[in-house]
Amino acid sequence: MGIPESPPDTAAGPGVGHAISADVAVIGGGVIGHGIAWEARRSGRSVVLIDDAPGSGASWAAAGMLAPVSELHYQEEELLGLMLDASERWPQFAADLTGVSGRGCGYLATPTLTIGADAADRQALMDLRTVQQANGLAVEPLTVREARRREPLLSPGIACALDTPADHQVDPRRLVECFRAALANHLPAGGAGGVGTAVAGALDGFAVQDRAVGLEWTDGAVAGVRLAGGGVVLAGETVVANGMAASSLDNLPAGLRLPLRPVHGDILRLAVPPHLRPLLTSTVRGLVRGVPVYLVPREDGTVVIGATQREDALGGTNAASGAVPANAGSNAAPASAVSAGGVYQLLRDAQVLVPAVAELELLECTARARPATPDNAPLLGRVPMDGGEGSAAHVPGLIVATGFFRHGVLLTPAAAAICRDLMDGKADRRWQPFRPDRFSGRIPAPSFNIKETA
Ligand SMILES: Cc1cc2nc3c(=O)[nH]c(=O)nc-3n(C[C@H](O)[C@H](O)[C@H](O)COP(=O)(O)OP(=O)(O)OC[C@H]3O[C@@H](n4cnc5c(N)ncnc54)[C@H](O)[C@@H]3O)c2cc1C
Repeated sequence: MGIPESPPDTAAGPGVGHAISADVAVIGGGVIGHGIAWEARRSGRSVVLIDDAPGSGASWAAAGMLAPVSELHYQEEELLGLMLDASERWPQFAADLTGVSGRGCGYLATPTLTIGADAADRQALMDLRTVQQANGLAVEPLTVREARRREPLLSPGIACALDTPADHQVDPRRLVECFRAALANHLPAGGAGGVGTAVAGALDGFAVQDRAVGLEWTDGAVAGVRLAGGGVVLAGETVVANGMAASSLDNLPAGLRLPLRPVHGDILRLAVPPHLRPLLTSTVRGLVRGVPVYLVPREDGTVVIGATQREDALGGTNAASGAVPANAGSNAAPASAVSAGGVYQLLRDAQVLVPAVAELELLECTARARPATPDNAPLLGRVPMDGGEGSAAHVPGLIVATGFFRHGVLLTPAAAAICRDLMDGKADRRWQPFRPDRFSGRIPAPSFNIKETA
């Protein structure tokens, strides 16, 4: 393409007018981008992950519940298959990641207790249980006495409790740290294939700390990523995984619509004083007068209480909210403003379930936008294009992985495996409903439709 390779001493990405090359370029360093990057790496590919503020988006806020059963929603049964696939992958995925990174990601196979605060909440949860059971999911009623034997700090005034043993948790902030440690852990050059996986010119051999501006094209195929800093990453496969910002990239295939909308969530982090530990041993999800609330106890003695779902005007404000990852600095993804009413509601309802919440130390109020789609399912896969009747053609070199809404942490291992399979030339028909062009019209063959790159 006539772009000089980046000088080898460039630490965090190509300089102006320079390029670096890898097998795979991933745009966006949330849990999804990191998961895909790591899966591609462990399939032997060299990988570059582009993000000027990795881990600072929705992944920074997420509670990390891995909850295919509790998160079953009416008329989202198709998504359930993907959630169950991801859930099954989690134990091995977490073990492998810990093995390579040398650190834990906070994966806990502890159960979830679902609590109804009053009679109407109990009825709603029992109705949901009917749907869960119809889908083969295990949710078993407990007496209030049994529930309080397991969790003595639950309020005696709750109306019902249900055991959901298959819903677990991970700590998304630790997860991102694990991915980065694993990605920095390279195969030595001269190994099996004679080539190492470290990419010259990338920080730790994988990270480019810059923003993607748009896709780079050659001969009708996506050939990499153009960066805000003036450089280029050249790659055989480019993965668009930058969450809410995916649709604003330049040079997406003409006609491809990625209809993402922000659904803001407030979430709290609190410290449990020593005399109240453990506050809980299970994740507690509740309905309090019809409003959902959850408490997720972490290994370090903190508890996460969340989360609201807002599509209000407040969400657009770009106020500082909650801490940001140390490596994000001033580049952190735009935070949603924290809603005073949201914080009030979370603390009020959490105390209905666990009154001792009033005695905890409030450490952090955070808000972020969940990247949602019109059908609440992700936009995941290759982009089919119009190659004539019965054609299976897709835009070469491009994979889309965004729109993970409420489930991005849970879905990370499945999204990573699906993307690796696509890179290997395999497509699983089960994931067709999530194809990223499902809200688009006809996508013409790209060579005739792509704007010139600047
Ligand atoms: C309050 C809250 C609670 C949640 N709880 C859970 C939960 O319990 N379980 C669960 O499974 N999910 C949960 N979620 C949802 C989950 O957080 C998201 O689905 C998931 O984080 C999406 O991950 P992502 O990597 O696609 O996006 P993000 O985490 O938003 O990452 C996108 C990244 O792209 C980067 N980026 C943006 N533009 C560019 C660009 N042009 N170039 C380079 N990089 C760019 C950003 O800096 C960011 O790091 C929750 C979400 C919220 C808000």
